[in-house]
Order: sequence, then structure tokens, then C-alpha cells
Amino acid sequence: MSKIERRDEYTHKGLRKQLAEHLKTKGITSEKVLDAIRNVPRHFFLDPIFDKIAYEDRAFPIGEGQTISQPYTVAYQTQLLDINPFDKVLEIGTGSAYQSCVLAELGAQVFTIERQKKLYDAQKTGFPFLKKYPSIKFFYGDGFLGLPTYAPFDKVIITAAAPFIPPKLVEQMKVGGKMVIPVNEGEHQRMLRLTKLEDGSLQEEKFEQFSFVPMLEGKNQ
Ligand code: SAH
Repeated sequence: MSKIERRDEYTHKGLRKQLAEHLKTKGITSEKVLDAIRNVPRHFFLDPIFDKIAYEDRAFPIGEGQTISQPYTVAYQTQLLDINPFDKVLEIGTGSAYQSCVLAELGAQVFTIERQKKLYDAQKTGFPFLKKYPSIKFFYGDGFLGLPTYAPFDKVIITAAAPFIPPKLVEQMKVGGKMVIPVNEGEHQRMLRLTKLEDGSLQEEKFEQFSFVPMLEGKNQ
């Protein structure tokens, strides 16, 4: 997948505005989130063959059998996270790093983990645009384990289909912190938002169903 720096033309900017309007009609209300969608050039995260369709509201392949999430999904999860500037955010599933950049655009300090070595390498070293966001730190590892050294986190976002709520990630949440996680329910996933209470228990809110690639244990060379 070629990630050579490309141009951000007026046409791309126009398509991003249209995408933001489309996301509004689907129920995304946060202007901050919509601004981030307007500001992050999604076509940079995709192979040039997708240039013309990069702003359609759909997922695309990014190599290693993985996908960049649909813009609606990215906007939806980001809105549920309710990001404040300087929030420490743990993201599981770097993938293309598009979601990481949307979070960084909102002022978050992002700690993102990817289990596929090739995707990790591509984002960590091969993607000049990411220099714009020094607040994103990349890790190669198993997201089920989180990053205990950097815990606790204000927010945790899982961008793959979780078979269950990973206990280690709950441990790494601050009291008052939030986790947004798609958990398997039949063939799809139910989006959950969990808030950690003073006594360490979780308050759970349920949202729409989505379809993600699976969250898998261990690392992949
Ligand atoms: N946030 C990404 C979405 C990528 S798809 C984006 O915006 O492009 C989900 C990603 O999660 C895939 O790259 C997959 O390899 C990764 N993944 C799956 N299980 C994981 C795990 N246990 N730890 C870390 N990453 C994982």
C-alpha cells in the first residue's frame, strides 16, 4: 500500500464537507467531531486507487485483510468518547491510523496499538502526514493487554469486534473514564459505552449495531 504524501485538492476538501453533511443527516451532532472529519484528509490513508471514492461513507481495504473504518463509524465512536483537549486516549486497532488522527485533531494524546506488524510499521515509519500529529504514539502489541505503563487513560476506544470486554483494559481506565467498544452480538456488534464509577464498577449504555473486523489475541508478524 503506497502512502507517499499526496495533495489535498479543493475537490477533496469539498467532498469532505459533503461527507460531514451526510454524517449530520445520519445523526452525528457534535460540531467538533464534524470539523475533525472536515480537516483530516481521508484519501491520504488509502491507496491512490481509492482517491475518487475515499469520501464515500464506507470501509475500504488497507492490506493484511484489514479495513479503514467507515466514516460514520469513526464519527459515531468519536462522538460517544466525548473527547476533551489533552485527554489520554488508548486506541486498540491502529489500522490505517485515520481514527487516531481524528482523535488527535480533537486535541487528544493518542496511544494506539496494532497487532499486525506490517500495518504498525507502515504507520510508524512510512507515513509522512502523521508528523502533523506528534501527540500520537504507536505501539506494536496485543490490544487485549493494553499499555499498563501508560495507564490510567481518560478514554479507551476499541476499533475491532471484541468477543468480550477485556478486563485489563477496564483496569487501565481512570475513575470517571469512558470506554467505547463494539462487543459481539450475533453476527454483528453492539456499541457499548462504559463509564468507570468510584467503586470500580462499570455503568453501561447501549447504542446501535455495527460490523467490525475481529479483535484477535496475540501479535501477527
Ligand atoms: N482504527 C482503524 C480501524 C482498523 S480495523 C482505522 O481507522 O483504520 C481494526 C484493526 O484492529 C485492524 O488493523 C486489526 O489488525 C486490529 N486489531 C485486531 N485485534 C487487535 C488486537 N488484539 N490488538 C491490536 N490491534 C488489533
